[in-house]
Amino acid sequence: MFEKILIANRGEIALRIQRACRELAIKTVVVHSEADREAKYVKLADESVCIGPASSTQSYLNVPAIISAAEVTDSEAIHPGYGFLSENADFAERVETSGFTFIGPRPETIRLMGDKVSAKDAMKAAGVPCVPGSDGALPEDPKEIIRIAKSVGYPVIIKAAGGGGGRGMRVVHTEAALISAVNMTRTEAQTAFGNPVVYMEKYLENPRHVEIQVLADSFRNAVYLGERDCSMQRRHQKVIEEAPAPHIASRYITRVGERCADACRRINYRGAGTFEFLYENGEFYFIEMNTRVQVEHPVTEAITGVDIVQEQIRIAAGEKLRLRQKDIAFKGHAIECRINAEDPFTFVPSPGKISFWHPPGGPGIRVDSHVYQGYTVPSHYDSMVGKLISYGDTREQAIRRMRIALSEMGVEGIKTNIALHQELMMDANFVHGGTSIHYLEQKLAAKGELKK
Ligand code: ADP
Repeated sequence: MFEKILIANRGEIALRIQRACRELAIKTVVVHSEADREAKYVKLADESVCIGPASSTQSYLNVPAIISAAEVTDSEAIHPGYGFLSENADFAERVETSGFTFIGPRPETIRLMGDKVSAKDAMKAAGVPCVPGSDGALPEDPKEIIRIAKSVGYPVIIKAAGGGGGRGMRVVHTEAALISAVNMTRTEAQTAFGNPVVYMEKYLENPRHVEIQVLADSFRNAVYLGERDCSMQRRHQKVIEEAPAPHIASRYITRVGERCADACRRINYRGAGTFEFLYENGEFYFIEMNTRVQVEHPVTEAITGVDIVQEQIRIAAGEKLRLRQKDIAFKGHAIECRINAEDPFTFVPSPGKISFWHPPGGPGIRVDSHVYQGYTVPSHYDSMVGKLISYGDTREQAIRRMRIALSEMGVEGIKTNIALHQELMMDANFVHGGTSIHYLEQKLAAKGELKK
């Protein structure tokens, strides 16, 4: 096992990784920007290194600074968390060529999955069901593009091979709008991602977002840890996640989960990963793979009892998976609410000093947060200040516990989206379960209309 790990991230995930390391008796080094110097998790680490000013391009994305921090502290491995450099194949490669272990997949796997066209090709070859669409990249010839769209059937969605974060996508309903949409998406993709390659998919009108968590070691052993439903989204950003996904028969999950584990073995996947699917009318359609730990991993931990971050570390240290598929049992139900420093209804970010902070507790409640009373939420980064996770024997109990937790939680000095979560926990359609990826935006739009 490693003696010392460098954590190349900030906020709640830096603290989460630190906790996993401490439980495994591994020393931690936290790198931080000038804006995060005073954070408690930085002080809690065995060592800390300031790697630059607040701006993330100069700190959390500053590869040479992170590598030299690992060198001066004699770290053995680097955990990238999520966001920032976690899915940057060049960074993973730099880490390994500098003599450290990257806690994640091999650089070539990250590269394969980072290009959505090559990822889809690999998944198709591995027998993972994909959204019907163009076979690979769209050609230049407009006539060819029109022919492909006709065979896929409208509406279609044009997506950038290098896209991410919900950007670089355009829905097309008619042939008349097709070619200009393709050209615009190409231009945008070139500007935003430095890669003009685009592809086409059938646009699914009312899908849910259901994803499969996997773990795989370096010896081609792989398991799936069930699914998460992350359909409650705003602007393609997840707001609430839960496991298991309501109203999907377990035999469907078993089938797609086995396919994912099998795909891991085929591509020699290493580490934790997530296969993201759109789910509609009993069918799963692969959209992309995330080659890192995800924000919503705690709901899976709650229903499986597996510590995903510790498993990532064990796998990176060269250990064999300790779990076989038959050892993994799914018990109860878990829900996660992302708590953001933002106005609950206009969504305008609300950084600043937290003058009062009272987190909830009690049976089945987990709070993953790096903030505390007196902490200042910097304006430079993501607005998430923590995650509230509730667990119950049933979904009903998890919802009831979440309602209580939200009502206990006290935050002053900044605005948070707690009121939105309270409303959603009482929403009849959420309570029934199984709403689509458009549900939250439709609900918010309807409320906006009512106000007018
Ligand atoms: P990103 O990497 O930018 O997150 P994804 O491919 O994961 O891009 O897609 C993000 C979101 O866009 C999905 O969660 C879904 O809401 C929507 N989307 C993507 N592809 C389709 C599709 N074929 N049909 C309908 N919605 C889609």
